[in-house]
Amino acid sequence: MNDATPFGCQSAPVLRERGQHEVFCGLTGIVWLHRKMQDAFFLVVGSRTCAHLLQSAAGVMIFAEPRFGTAILEEGDLAGLKDANDELDREVARLLTRRPDIRQLFLVGSCPSEVIKLDLARAAERLTQVHAPHVRVLNYSGSGIETTFTQGEDACLAAMVPGLPSTDAANLLLVGALPDVVEDQARTLLAGLGIDHVQVLPGRRADQDPAVGPNTRYALLQPFLGDTAAALDGRGATRIAAPFPFGEEGTTAWLRAVAEAFGIDEATFARVTDAPRARARRAVAAAAETLAGKRITFLPDSQLELPLARFLSRECGMEPVEIGTPYLHAGLMGPELALLPQGARLSEGQDVDRQLDRVRADRPDLTVCGMGLANPLESEGLTTKWAIELVFTPVHFYEQAGDLAALFARPLRRKRILTDPAPLLLAENTPGVRGLAPASARE
Ligand code: SF4
Repeated sequence: MNDATPFGCQSAPVLRERGQHEVFCGLTGIVWLHRKMQDAFFLVVGSRTCAHLLQSAAGVMIFAEPRFGTAILEEGDLAGLKDANDELDREVARLLTRRPDIRQLFLVGSCPSEVIKLDLARAAERLTQVHAPHVRVLNYSGSGIETTFTQGEDACLAAMVPGLPSTDAANLLLVGALPDVVEDQARTLLAGLGIDHVQVLPGRRADQDPAVGPNTRYALLQPFLGDTAAALDGRGATRIAAPFPFGEEGTTAWLRAVAEAFGIDEATFARVTDAPRARARRAVAAAAETLAGKRITFLPDSQLELPLARFLSRECGMEPVEIGTPYLHAGLMGPELALLPQGARLSEGQDVDRQLDRVRADRPDLTVCGMGLANPLESEGLTTKWAIELVFTPVHFYEQAGDLAALFARPLRRKRILTDPAPLLLAENTPGVRGLAPASARE
């Protein structure tokens, strides 16, 4: 983007597609939710396919007693020959006897449980009566029929909202599951601004659940939490509208919106943010050298597409060609749309063949997409980035801004080295570094 680029896409046309889509289902969210909620267990009521997805996506759990599992629906259940509810009750009783550390149990619906119309809401109510007060049982759907992979978190958090304690106190609620270290950075910034009574949904443990009421103001940390936002609105809370805290500019705008909502003065804001802003700008500039002037397409996947396109265009000098997103929530995305460069093609939903045709015609320098589409595109000479990495990697707030830019720079550097091995040869022939590839080649 250059200085003359006009910004603002609030009234830009949106290409809406409703065809075949290629994206993980909402069960994937369990991979990061189970790490965040330390006394929760996620019991997927599904098939062996669901179990395999979880095990391969979260195969890291081999060293610890896992906090997710699958109650397998066998053929007899699917054919209606057995009472799946009785089996579910037995499975839950076995699990809770063996694992007294579990305080929250999520029954997670799947495609098979939806197909046989297993009523998990009723099952959760029934099981709560049996196992309360020690364990709270909730349910949500992670089915691929209904959800894309980040919507699993939205469905989980929305299911928690009705049970949150009530309060009339003025508090700030941060909404979204971030790694603890990043959440702590946000809390430190807010404490520096003088904002107390900060709580987070989801809490790290059941007894840290936030309270909510008519004097609660909440700020979303993730752009895919539309149902959770609606549920909080229903409890009388007020959303603080802001861009999302990606990159230096997004983090500053997010913090400023929160600061204004709490009446923090400009001098305090500058004192708290000036130094981390400068650090973030320096870190982003290092990666932006690789990104500036490059064209990028986002296929619809994580629902992070609009904020990331905003960050990459405004702070890294990239040119968004197409910004695809599974759902475009105009209310939550208003502040992001206002900052996007005009001229980028916006699309919502997917018709995968038509979208791939557009990618082939556009030939962007970088395509952000799901794992299933990355290999075919790479084989056609296109450079890709897996969207799922963006939810497994800490990318929010100032201290991660440089890492976020570097995530996009890495595949471009790798491509440059593969097509132009001169820097590699130079390192090989330089005394003292023989046999060492340059840092960028090792990334
Ligand atoms: S919920 Fe559906 S899409 Fe997801 S793993 Fe199970 S069967 Fe597959």
